This record gives sequence, C-alpha cells and structure tokens, in this order.
Amino acid sequence: MATINKNYRKLASGYLFPEIARRTKAYQQANLDKKLHRLGIGNTTEALSSEIVNALHEKIDKLANNETYSGYGDEQGDLALREALVGYYKKMGIDIENDEVFVSDGAKPDSANIQSIFSSDSIVAIQDPAYPVYVDSNVVSGRSSGFDVANGVYKDFVYLKGNIENQFFPPPPKEKVDLIYLCSPNNPTGAVATKEQLEEYVSYAKKHKSVIIFDAAYNEFISDPNLPKSIYQIEGAKECAVEINSFSKFSGFTGVRLGWSIVPKELSVEDSEVGEINRLWFRRQVTFFNGASNISQAGGLAVLSDKGLAQSKALVAYYMENAQIIKETLQELSLDVYGGTNAPYLWVKAPNNLKSWEFFDQLLNQCQVVVTPGSGFGSSGEHFVRFSAFGHRQDILDAVKSIKENLKI
Ligand code: PLP
Repeated sequence: MATINKNYRKLASGYLFPEIARRTKAYQQANLDKKLHRLGIGNTTEALSSEIVNALHEKIDKLANNETYSGYGDEQGDLALREALVGYYKKMGIDIENDEVFVSDGAKPDSANIQSIFSSDSIVAIQDPAYPVYVDSNVVSGRSSGFDVANGVYKDFVYLKGNIENQFFPPPPKEKVDLIYLCSPNNPTGAVATKEQLEEYVSYAKKHKSVIIFDAAYNEFISDPNLPKSIYQIEGAKECAVEINSFSKFSGFTGVRLGWSIVPKELSVEDSEVGEINRLWFRRQVTFFNGASNISQAGGLAVLSDKGLAQSKALVAYYMENAQIIKETLQELSLDVYGGTNAPYLWVKAPNNLKSWEFFDQLLNQCQVVVTPGSGFGSSGEHFVRFSAFGHRQDILDAVKSIKENLKI
C-alpha cells in the first residue's frame, strides 16, 4: 500500500504569490481603466545580450548537423564551462578545481537538493526573512515537526532574525546547528554580508563542524569592492561551505536555465572522509539529474567570455539604475529604505506601523503599484515590503511617478 510523504502536509500553503495575484486581479477587475505597475517579482525582463544569442544560435546549428551533434555531456557540466568558472573564481583570487564545479539547471534546484546529502536529523539555521526554498526543502525532508501557526515559524528550525539593528544580516546562532543557509546579497532584504560577518560564520562553522550553504545568486550586483562576492574569499571557507550560484539574474537566464554549485574537496563534516561530500554530491547529481541543457551551457560559456561578461555587467547596471530610481523616490517620501545599492531588491519599512499586507493594499489601491509583502518571506519580514528593480525602465518610471503623485502617507 503506497502512502504519501507526509512531510509535504507540514508545508504551510504557498500563500504569498497566489494571494498577490488574487488581490491584484480583484483590483484590476474593479478598476478596468487603471494600469498596474508591477514591482513585485524577481523575474528578469531585458533581452539576452548579443554575445549569448550568437552562442545559442551557433549551438543549435551544431545540433542540426550529424558531424557536430552532441547528446549527453559530461555529468558535472561541460569541461570548457567548468574551466571558465574556475577562471571566474580565479579573478576573485580563489582557487577552485574543475571537479569541484557542478553545473546545474539553476540555483533553485541546487539550493533545494543540497540538503539531501546531509543527515536527516541535521539542525537547520535559516535567515529570517529568506528565500522560501531553504525552509521548504528541509520541511519536506523531515527536519521540522510542523508549522507553528501562532508564531508563523517551523518547529525545530533555528531562525537567524534580520532586523534594523543588525542591518538584516544576523550574527551566527548562539546554539550549535549543523546546516546554515546564508544568502548574500539577500533576497528579499537586499542586505550584503561584510567580510567580517562572513568571517564570523566561517569561524562558527569550523568550530561546530557545521556546513554553510551560501547562495550567491545575486553576487554580480555587488559594486562595492569591499564586499565579498564569494564566501571563498574568506579564509578557511572551503573547509565548511558549499556555494550556489546562477546565470539567471546576472545574464537573464531565468528562462534559459543554468546555474552551478561549488562543493570543495576540502569540505568535511563530523563523520566524513576528506573529499567525501564532493563525491556524495556527484553521486546525487548523476543519480537524479542528467546534466544541464547543452544549449544553455553554450550560452553560459558565452557569458563568461570577455565580451559576454561586459554585456552582462551592463545588464546588471541597467537594473541597478532602476533600483536607484526607486530608492530615491521612496526616500524623497521619507520612507525607510534598505538594500538596493548592491542588490536588485529594496526592503522598505511600511509607514505608520502598517503591516506588510496593509501597505501592499495601500500601494495597490492608491498607486496601482504591486510589491511583495515582506511577511511572506518569514515572520521577521512583517511590517516590510520588497520592491524589485527588475523591469523595463519606462515601467519603473511610470511606477515611481504614480507613487510620488498618489501615495498618501
Ligand atoms: N536563489 C535566490 C536567492 C533567488 O532569489 C532565486 C530566484 O529568485 C534563485 C536562487 C533561483 O535561481 P535560479 O533561477 O538559478 O533557479
């Protein structure tokens, strides 16, 4: 008799984006003449750059010809792409070997799946607020005994609370934990960890034999040279951290799909041999995954060429100008705005002690602007909303104009 994995029943409903859609639709139906401005979603909007498009076309042409066709590729990812990623880290002063690079179809699957190579009784620490995948993947794997509705948290997890005092990058926990999820630059708060903050985490992880799962999906949005773009810029991090990254936001690959993870051979835990975690992730990937699309990988290789990097950096600069435009407008209105300088997200305190959903409704009803309520990212996100800088320039300008003219604080 088959039965279900009951851990799925422990998941609090995926309420955030459906509820945003429901409220937005209801408003639009009641106000057919009004144009909505969507600043809520972290999806990219700008076209792929020419260097990438050419590489994608070229790869398709190769696939169209028996002489140049290729099927399954190297399981960990095409060697040329992994070598290019080794070169990408080298420019940051980091030495990675190509068998420590695992190319994937994105940072979301990697950040959801990586927990599977660690013990099911691992104690998990998660930033609050956070990208929901870290929490959900650990719930499904049975590391929480259920959702505590009264407090809006999952039982058995250690929440690292981000707030104004710690500028949304909380310090390591007081207690001993096994897996620590960090995201910098952070979705949703836009906070970026300093070198000192990451040093604190690395020294904590080494002391407690914990593993840091470092999501660097937005690292290319960092322009401040003093802020670390990779956890491996911190000495000793290879012994205690996995890093996950993505071409999605840097190069507009949200639909193309391509990411990678670094699992260093030096990484070890209490009961592992040297190199074993790297081998386990290889085993996991070859069992459950058959490699990223060879077309996407050709695109990824083009991103990492000199011209591709320059074009991707220009794309990031475009989104960051959007962020600046939004930030200036909100600050002119005396709102408290965090993030948005080294990250494409702005974390905005709701005025007048409004709750996240109340401020969401106010922005929708008065300005026709759709944002994301911060409470959807964890209980510490209450009283905040997230603005996203992903959008066409004209849409961003229309949105800020509407906010300036119509928001009544
Ligand atoms: N990690 C973070 C922090 C994200 O915000 C997102 C997407 O919004 C992802 C990972 C997903 O990346 P990918 O498109 O590579 O799966």
